[in-house]
Amino acid sequence: MLFEGLDEIVAALPIPSFVVDVSARIKLANAPARTLFGDDFIDRNYITRLRQPALVSAIETCARDGTRVVTKYTLSGQGTDRIYEATVSRLELGRAVLVCLEDKTPMHEAGMMRRDFVANVSHELRTPLTALLGFIDTLRGPARNDSVAIERFLGMMAREAQRMNRLVGDLLSLSRVEFSERQVPHARVRLSEVLAAARSSIAEQPDRDRIVFDPPTFPEADVTGDADQLRQVFNNLLENALKYGRAGSKVTVSLSEGDSDIYLRCPFYQVSVQDEGEGIAQHHIPRLTERFYRVDDHRSRELGGTGLGLAIVKHIIHRHRGRLDVTSTKGVGSRFSVILRKL
Ligand code: ADP
Repeated sequence: MLFEGLDEIVAALPIPSFVVDVSARIKLANAPARTLFGDDFIDRNYITRLRQPALVSAIETCARDGTRVVTKYTLSGQGTDRIYEATVSRLELGRAVLVCLEDKTPMHEAGMMRRDFVANVSHELRTPLTALLGFIDTLRGPARNDSVAIERFLGMMAREAQRMNRLVGDLLSLSRVEFSERQVPHARVRLSEVLAAARSSIAEQPDRDRIVFDPPTFPEADVTGDADQLRQVFNNLLENALKYGRAGSKVTVSLSEGDSDIYLRCPFYQVSVQDEGEGIAQHHIPRLTERFYRVDDHRSRELGGTGLGLAIVKHIIHRHRGRLDVTSTKGVGSRFSVILRKL
């Protein structure tokens, strides 16, 4: 047999791999390759089976010149493309060619996410920056001697600068949280204390008064966590509930416990922040924690939102091995619940 011994080696390769012989037929394929291309892959002509010019020409070149060729191979599946790096090497044995396909999809996706993120951040920063540059021109020109206009423009400039400051602050928080995500926090944290601290960090007193704890005093409930990060979670949820709740309406914070959460499968505490806003349509809910995802772009910006608050919340809860549950009814309000493991 021409490929004696080779079939065992190909079978042992952990990634989809196959051998094309001098007659241009696929002669050996390991299990991952057969999963990818189907069982009828063997004995077929590789040109008709693989079809993509880059890989076909890589196999041709390699068979002819004996040089190793690396190329990209894309397989379209149900809704998603998988991107492989194909390494084509000649085997002196029978002058055949070995093709190994390494799945590079996760790296490719990470690269795309990084590019999207940089584009988003640049766009978010450019908007207030452009406004600031415009105001500076106005102050130097038409408004130079108009003290009322100067005061008004300085106020608007301060708002734009604060927006940039919030964005940079949230970006730094996000990167710190991502950095810490691999270490599970170990301190003992009392939820009632963290919630009280989150409430008092809300800057405006009238807003703070809209937050109601139900019941007014929470029982002792301790979790393992990072107090600063948990305070930030509740601060972000409370600020959102106040921002997106109707003016003057209540925001109710409650604490409950259970023996076994359906997903975490362990005893848990649940802190819920319930608002009386206009609610969120169901199809938006799974996407709320994506960076810069906003249901109503204009409204979020008007209210000074950065679009990063819930992304930070998700990462912190993830670090705590907990989960976020969001339920909402249009016209009634939304409830954001943080579910944390009991100590
Ligand atoms: P933002 O800075 O825009 O508030 P977040 O990440 O905190 O960013 O929230 C993402 C989006 O989720 C918001 O733009 C808003 O559309 C929606 N959202 C968040 N919390 C609520 C809420 N309590 N009620 C209604 N919509 C909300």
